[in-house]
Amino acid sequence: MSNIVAIVGRPNVGKSTLYNRLTETRKAIVDDMSGVTRDRHYGLAEWTGKTFTVVDTGGYVAGSEDLFEIAIREQVLIAIEEATVILFMVDVTTGVTDLDDSIADLLRRSKKPVLIVANKVDNNQLLNETHQFYSLGLGEIYGISSMTGSGTGELLDETIKHF
Ligand code: GDP
Ligand code: MG
Repeated sequence: MSNIVAIVGRPNVGKSTLYNRLTETRKAIVDDMSGVTRDRHYGLAEWTGKTFTVVDTGGYVAGSEDLFEIAIREQVLIAIEEATVILFMVDVTTGVTDLDDSIADLLRRSKKPVLIVANKVDNNQLLNETHQFYSLGLGEIYGISSMTGSGTGELLDETIKHF
């Protein structure tokens, strides 16, 4: 069974941008799931000779805020079930939001390894602002820029240690 790395987090933090970066030369395996979690993509990635499956989660549901939160919650619960390692992505340019806090609550109760990925660290000044995410109570924070790829090597080094 292949190792699975799931990227979770609220909308617009950059999950799909990281997913595309990690899987860009690979073919997506399958785009499945029905119901609320219709936006869930699986792709193959490789780092220093280790191959693994990356899961991009969306879960956008048109309608009320409540439905929206339920969809994200469902994505996180599936990730807790199936993933070897969970990448919990947050956005350094917006800081900690209520939705980040509720996702963190779910993840803290799981036994799965969780790495906090502070995305949109496009320059060194922003790296200093990643410390605020220690308040999520999930341990180490990896500052990256999904756009430029900065910091992703260190994140992947750490990720594959859990395989
Ligand atoms: P998702 O909803 O979490 O999948 O987020 P997306 O990957 O769709 O990205 C949301 C927005 O953030 C898009 O406009 C991206 O171009 C932008 N974005 C993603 N990664 C970065 C980054 O590292 N730096 C900056 N400045 N913008 C980013
Ligand atoms: Mg997305």
